[in-house]
Amino acid sequence: MKQNKYQVMNFIRHIIDEDLAIGKYDNIHTRFPPEPNGYLHIGHAKSICLNFGIAKDYNGKCNLRFDDTNPVNENSNFIESIKNDIKWLGFTWSGDIKYTSNYFDQIYKYAIELINKGLAYVDELTIEEIKEYRGVWSKPGVNSPYRNRSIKENIFLFDKMKKGYFKEGKACLRAKIDMSSNFILMRDPVLYRIKFFKHHQTSDDWCIYPMYDFAHCISDALEGITHSLCTLEFLDNRRLYEWILKHISISTIYPSQYEYSRLNLEYSVTSKRKLSQLVNKKYVEGWDDPRMPTISGLRRRGYTPASICEFCHRIGVTKQQNIIEMSLLESCVRDELNRNAPRAMAVLDPIQIIIQNLPLNYEKIIVMKNHPNMPEMGTREVVFSNTIWIDKADFREQYIKNYKRLILGKEVRLRNACIIRCDYITKDKEGNIICIYCTCDLNTLSKNVIDKSYKNNGIIHWISKAHAQPAEFRLYNRLFNIPNPSSEKNFLANINPNSLEIKHGYVEQSIKNAKANKPYQFEREGYFCADSVYSNQSHLVFNRIVSLRDSYEKLSSKSF
Ligand code: ATP
Ligand code: MG
Repeated sequence: MKQNKYQVMNFIRHIIDEDLAIGKYDNIHTRFPPEPNGYLHIGHAKSICLNFGIAKDYNGKCNLRFDDTNPVNENSNFIESIKNDIKWLGFTWSGDIKYTSNYFDQIYKYAIELINKGLAYVDELTIEEIKEYRGVWSKPGVNSPYRNRSIKENIFLFDKMKKGYFKEGKACLRAKIDMSSNFILMRDPVLYRIKFFKHHQTSDDWCIYPMYDFAHCISDALEGITHSLCTLEFLDNRRLYEWILKHISISTIYPSQYEYSRLNLEYSVTSKRKLSQLVNKKYVEGWDDPRMPTISGLRRRGYTPASICEFCHRIGVTKQQNIIEMSLLESCVRDELNRNAPRAMAVLDPIQIIIQNLPLNYEKIIVMKNHPNMPEMGTREVVFSNTIWIDKADFREQYIKNYKRLILGKEVRLRNACIIRCDYITKDKEGNIICIYCTCDLNTLSKNVIDKSYKNNGIIHWISKAHAQPAEFRLYNRLFNIPNPSSEKNFLANINPNSLEIKHGYVEQSIKNAKANKPYQFEREGYFCADSVYSNQSHLVFNRIVSLRDSYEKLSSKSF
């Protein structure tokens, strides 16, 4: 097998190599089985890269199967978003899209088979009673009084369930396994429950739906999945899957299940249930809010597919449970954009400078490189004039050590333009600076010389006032205040109220037609892209994808 960048060995790939070597399988077949009850998040990206990545590298197949056994929280909008996200990440599923609901007829027949073998029964205990009878790990469960019904009676009652004679919660089908098993999951798990709910694929055909555990292993087996990869919490379920497949007449090689650790990301939540609360309770604007750790949120924010795949590659696949630092995800996109993103100038928090020794109508076209190290990315023209915007943070009245920006009475270099000295400032009644008056060193302007004596000056960016395009900048901070919000009773209590900061400033004219999702490095400010929802030609809105450096690590180092 030819090695590619993402093909670093993990324990699952070792197992697959061995399976192929001993001839256990001829072809590798994996699947990605999302439940269409929300948008995909960064944790799913790990599973996608693993399953589709293995299929790609081993010339195998990877199915996309919607695990649609609970119609209540599922819908077609989620299905479309999931398909879209997988394609965007650069993967293609094998053959048609699969749905667990495609197999409802077969799954139902297997349930009948279990009843006929005396291995399943209709229970009429309530959900609470079932829980109570099931016991706890240290205490064996108690048999349901309905456990010893005859096969005939069970067939009759299950048919009644299917035909809608029972109300929801009044009956269910349970496997007859062992109420004293050390594995709670094996204490007569529920196989089917009643739900009077229109299904997005099967409409009103069914009012009984198989439980995830019953349907999942059967679906894997029917599709000929060789390696069924899932997260660690399904470790015990393997026992149940094996029991089910052993007792039904399904003609297939059993899929082998392997578990790996879930991806948890600092300062965020990776659970669709929790993410949907953020959406439904309007803590964020939607599933694709750029603060969300969803694939669609990251895309809108400006993350690239390659940066997400690189992240999944860097975290690897193991059985170790941990929380990954947000800075790792950020460094993946930062590294890529540092290499590829064209540069431009933007002033996020503007303050005006008038250069007194340049005429009012002065204009100079300056040719700037789009990327310092990639001449193939070309150049652009930026107009310099006597009135410019700089960032408020780039000026101080008082001298402070190591502040390499503009100080009253001192000099600074304007990027690609010239050196200016600050002469005086004007203020309003409240003491806010209205304008900074400067003088330009004409020598440096005409020849763009870099004299040795200037070498200690800092360089700041600027935008000519007459050529500036107004723009809104959306700066995103962590969505939660604590590294592991999921460990809290109420994760919503730890939302960061300042996760979105909006600024109004200017960008240079060359990017007035910036396309949504096209990333730029705004010099000294960070990586940005136009927002796909809010930005248009008459109102530019830029999302900050990521800062230039890890701002939480080295706050004080910014451009000093
Ligand atoms: P959620 O709690 O977000 O709904 P889930 O496991 O119920 O997660 P599914 O839609 O059932 O979500 O997941 C589809 C696949 O993605 C499964 O194989 C699951 O194991 C995997 N997966 C989900 N979350 C993560 C995660 N955080 N890290 C790695 N894999 C994940
Ligand atoms: Mg699930």
